[in-house]
Amino acid sequence: MIGHGQPGHIDQIKQTNAGVVYRLIDSFGPISRIALSKEARLAPASITKIVRELVEAHLVAETEYQENGLRGRPAIGLVVETQAWHFLSVRIGHGTITLALRELSSHLIVEDTVPLAAQAPEPLLVRLIQTIDQFFIRHQSLLERLTAIAVTLPGIIDASAGMVHRMPWYNVDNLSLGPALSEHIGVPVYLQHDICAWTMAEALYGAARGCNDVIQIVIDHNVGAGVITGGTLLHGGSRSLVEIGHTQVEPYGKRCYCGNRGCLETVAGIESILDLTRQRLALNMDSALNDTGVSVESLCAAANAGDTLARDIIVGIGNSVGRILAIMVNLFNPEKILVGSPLNPASDILFPVILSNIRQQSLPDYSKNITVQATRFMNQGTMPGAALVKDALYDGSLLLKLLQG
Ligand SMILES: [Zn+2]
Repeated sequence: MIGHGQPGHIDQIKQTNAGVVYRLIDSFGPISRIALSKEARLAPASITKIVRELVEAHLVAETEYQENGLRGRPAIGLVVETQAWHFLSVRIGHGTITLALRELSSHLIVEDTVPLAAQAPEPLLVRLIQTIDQFFIRHQSLLERLTAIAVTLPGIIDASAGMVHRMPWYNVDNLSLGPALSEHIGVPVYLQHDICAWTMAEALYGAARGCNDVIQIVIDHNVGAGVITGGTLLHGGSRSLVEIGHTQVEPYGKRCYCGNRGCLETVAGIESILDLTRQRLALNMDSALNDTGVSVESLCAAANAGDTLARDIIVGIGNSVGRILAIMVNLFNPEKILVGSPLNPASDILFPVILSNIRQQSLPDYSKNITVQATRFMNQGTMPGAALVKDALYDGSLLLKLLQG
């Protein structure tokens, strides 16, 4: 939450309870007040009071439904009401920005991707505000009540302060993005590193749903990891991240935007992978990539078709990433590893290499049941931003704002 003070003790309890009740209705609705009271472990009187406020605010509605296996009169159950409540989910990427209007349920209303030049005469903040204003003007006729803005981006950030310290590609020096947007639009702004937010989205709606301990590794323009441990996102609310992409793997390697040299990101990032492929291609006249040209798609396709050079490149990435993951497995003992990458079309080659590195280099007891699988969502999308808003509803902070009108 950006730019608002901490609530007092009573407000904190009210916030937490409202969040729990909303999460249960969202997850299990239609659900009766009695079932809700049991699930939430709150007294029926507390449930009645919280539900009344949510119904009056049009965040929850009553509906008739047939209880499991019971005939006769339908029961009255509660469901969340999300259609009249919108939020904006923004993802800043490499040369583009994606903006999506979504209902509180996360259902997509409209999504645009527009260019965002890395270098421009006007500061990034000014251009971001213009882009957002233009999006709202374009889609004015679709817009219901706006509740929040979620922003996900790569870089070094402080999520709780809404601060972007540094970004790849864009010239950013301690940009107070959350407070600036919140002041301009007049709604709360939730800012998060894109990998962290993506891990939250996989836990809420994707491949990590229902899992308590998961490591998600991202191999894209940026390289990093999100960790869910004991059912919660590691470092979710703080300025720290699992900065695995900035672990040095080549002491004399390329300079990284973080200030150091030879970070995993400079070795396993997509641009570096394509550079390496082009260098090796010059010495490899047999490779099919000589005919197709070098891209992520052609690299994966050639590897799948058995091209030796392409396979070697993918195996090399699996080895560098797998070595670091083996250390993380010993730290966090996860049930599964999720891989989010445009290289996933070559998962039949990449994932077994990652798994065999983990099996050989981490505690056998920890690694014997681990599976490696693909994420459900892609890095470019606006679902990670939607997860930030869902999270703020479930912890009650955004809910309390909406109740107070
Ligand atoms: Zn770095």
